[in-house]
This record gives sequence, C-alpha cells and structure tokens, in this order.
Amino acid sequence: MPKNLINKIYIDGEFVTPHGTELFDLHNPSTGQVIGQVRLADEADAEAAIAAAKRALPAWSATSREERIDALRRLRDAAAARLEDLREAVVVEYGGPVRNSYLVDSIVGAFGDMIKTLENFEFTRQAGNAIVEMAPIGVAALIMPWNSDAFFICDKLATALAAGCTAVIKPSEMSATQTQILTEALHAAGLPNGVFNVVTGRGEVLGPTINRHPDIAKISFTGSTEVGKTIMREASGTLKSLTLELGGKSPSIILDDSDLEEALTGALRAGFVNSGQACVAGTRILVQENHLDDVLALITKKVETDYLVGDPRDPATAIGPMVSERQAERVRSYIHRGIEEGARVVVGGPDRPDELPDGYYVRPTVFADVSNDMTIAREEIFGPVLTVITYRDEDQAVEIANDTTFGLHAYVFSGDLARARRIASRLEVGRVSVNGGFEQLSPFGGFKQSGLGREYGSFGLEGFLEPRSIML
Ligand code: NAD
Repeated sequence: MPKNLINKIYIDGEFVTPHGTELFDLHNPSTGQVIGQVRLADEADAEAAIAAAKRALPAWSATSREERIDALRRLRDAAAARLEDLREAVVVEYGGPVRNSYLVDSIVGAFGDMIKTLENFEFTRQAGNAIVEMAPIGVAALIMPWNSDAFFICDKLATALAAGCTAVIKPSEMSATQTQILTEALHAAGLPNGVFNVVTGRGEVLGPTINRHPDIAKISFTGSTEVGKTIMREASGTLKSLTLELGGKSPSIILDDSDLEEALTGALRAGFVNSGQACVAGTRILVQENHLDDVLALITKKVETDYLVGDPRDPATAIGPMVSERQAERVRSYIHRGIEEGARVVVGGPDRPDELPDGYYVRPTVFADVSNDMTIAREEIFGPVLTVITYRDEDQAVEIANDTTFGLHAYVFSGDLARARRIASRLEVGRVSVNGGFEQLSPFGGFKQSGLGREYGSFGLEGFLEPRSIML
C-alpha cells in the first residue's frame, strides 16, 4: 500500500471510508511519478452524501443572516489556517509554479467576498403589493475541475451556504490531495453535520446519479462545455436550476492607440495565466495588421525571457507542467494541428523542452499567420498556446472577437478609455477587462456556449435562491 493513500470521503460531518473501491493513482506532473492513491467514491456514496445534505437542509435553510455570516467567518479562518499546506499541494499535485502561489489566497477571499455580499443582500423585497422572499433553492451539487480546485470549492460552497442551501461537493479525482487538505480545514470550522459533503470520484460514475437525482435542486458546475451539455441533458428530467461555467477562447484586442509594450505584457499574462490551463485565458491576440511585425518581435522577446517553462519550485518558472500526460499530449496535438493548417510557429513548438525529459511539460507557443477559422483559433486548447490574428480596423476587430462559439471573457488594451469602453460594450462576453482592470465581485459567467448563469457577489448568490411571492 503506498504511503500517501487518501481513503476517506466526507459525509454527514464525518470522514468515512467510501463504498467505492477503485484506487486512482495521483501523479506529480513535474516528474510523472506516482505520489499516492485515492480511493474513489461511487454511486452509493453520492446517494449517501445527497441524503445527508437533504437531512441538514431544513435547519440550515432556517438560519439567519448573522448565523450564516458567522459560519462563513469560521470557514474562512479554518481555510486560512491550512494555506501553506494547500500551497505545497498545488505545487506537488498540480504543478502550479510557486511564483503564482499567491493565487491560493483566493480561497480566503472567496469566503470574505461572500460575507460582504451577504451583509447587504436583500432577502425580502417588494413587487407591487407583494412581498418577495428570496428562498434557498434546496440541496446543491457543486462540481469542479482540476485547474483551481480549492478556490472553486470555497467559492461555490460559500455561495450555497450564504443562500441557505446545503451542498454535495464533487471535485476532480486529480485534485484529491488538495481536496483532502481543504476538507480537513473546513471540517475544523464545526458546521452542523451534513451541511456540506465531499465525494471525490469520477464524473462519469457520480455524474449520472447527481445529475438525475430528485433531491438535488441545483447544480453549479465548472468544467468543459461538453460535460456541461451532458449535465444539462441529464438534469432536464428533474428541471434543475443550473449554473454552468464552461470553456472559453477569449480575445485580447490590442488597439492601435495602446502602448504596445504594456499591452503585450498584459495580453501575454492573460494568455499564459495558470500555465495556460485557465478558462479565462486570452488565447486569441488581435492586433492591427500594420503593427504585426513589431508585435511578433516583442512577443518573441517576452516569451523567451519572461515565460520560462520548468520546475514549478523554481521562482523563475512561469509555465509549469500540464496537469497530466494526457493533457500535455492534447496540447501538443493542437500545436501539430496548427502547423498542419498552415499557421506559423513564432516561438515554442510541439517538441518537449530539451532540458525537461520527465514530467508533463510543453513549450509556451505562439502562432502567427492564423485565420480565425483555424482549429487553434476556435477550440479551447487549455494549455500555453496563443494565436496572433490581425484585423484591419476596429469593426473587424469586434467581428473577429465575436466570431466564436464561446463568450466567457475578453481583454481590451487601449490608450483611450472611452474608446475601450465602446468596444467592450460590443463584445458578446460575460466579462471584459480593460487594460488589466479587475473586480472579483462583478458577475462572472459566459455568453453563448461558455455557460449559463453567473457566479460571485450578489449575482452568484441569486443563482441559489428562488423568489417566493406572498400576496396579502
Ligand atoms: P471536465 O468537464 O472534464 O470535468 C469537470 C468536472 O466534471 C470534473 O469533476 C469531472 O469529474 C466532472 N464530470 C465529468 N463528467 C461528468 C458528468 N457526466 N456529470 C457530472 N460531472 C461530470 O473539465 P476538466 O478537464 O476537469 O477542466 C477543464 C475544463 O474546465 C475546461 O474546459 C475549462 O475551460 C473549464 N473551466 C471553466 C471555468 C469557468 O469558470 N468557466 C473555470 C475553470 C475551468
């Protein structure tokens, strides 16, 4: 039996041995070596978790705003106490570079932001003569991907609990170590049994039970568009409320009046965020055709000096390994596809970095001579692969930006804020960042096939509530 065996899931306030018996190997993506195993939950475990959340619902949904704020504070402090363990797990299990380890702090922010939202949220409103109560929707299933496990768990859980819902959390099997540390932390906050439950297992095993279960009222899912569609189909039988945070192919529009050096610094940061494994990654860099040569020269210089690929423990590393060999192969196959379709590699390429014979590494790669109908400009690659696409004028930039099945995020860089704002208002996306602007409380989610509904702040909270009108 390997030393690091995670053989417990969390149901009804207790760490219990799963009914499921499958053992899944956990890898260190930097070396490819097996670092442990996790015993996965199965359908019976999902049933037990849902039953526990259902039992806990009447008491939790009757809690006051103050009681929920108090619980969120305890969860926040308990999570904060394990930050260093989580940072280490993100490096070892995910390959996240240490220089990005501040990202782990976002789990504390997730609880803090929901406390702020809850303090001012109007649970009772007026519509004409009617009183409208915003009531908890019921038991929520929270399903997340592997690319930011702890943050997604904390954000979705904070929102569900703030609404008065109880939760069944289904993380990715590839994030079992991070999930285990976080669950221990959240358990220490001492919430009532069953208010949240954690079943780590395969989506194809647990998904059908969760997606079809009559006692689940809401699914909040972050993951691929393909799985989002499966959930929507399976959940239709019981008409569940859905929040789906799916894929993206976000444009970074660099306007001709921007400071090119600054704009490209921002565009590359947006493109290579989280080693390119980010739904919001700005993977299509749109530049005015007259500026192409300058842009490509700057990009090459910046990628070669600022985006070093390597050991995530090295503070100089900006691009760590991909999460799995399968993911690295997938990214390399897209680079091959780009070359086959006639795009030109400006920097990077499909070969494994010479100095990194082990681990799941790919080279940060930027393509030029890309047209927006090529596969590398249309499909989400989920790795450090960017495309540079030229536009003639502002109208064409907007047209190319919107010519995609996705609509999650966009980035605009300009020296003229009023112009950037005008362009932002024409983009079919849920969020636009102008010159790197950011606000965590703003609603997050996608147009088109990037999803349904919104997360964060009051918009996120409403996703877990049903209005109930009382007419006296
Ligand atoms: P995925 O869709 O393969 O898996 C996501 C989660 O869904 C996992 O926990 C998985 O086990 C589970 N799952 C799989 N099949 C299921 C089913 N039939 N029913 C229910 N659950 C099921 O995604 P991934 O590979 O883990 O993550 C990468 C994807 O996530 C990318 O497409 C990325 O864009 C997306 N993502 C989106 C956002 C966002 O907020 N929009 C954020 C991060 C990642």
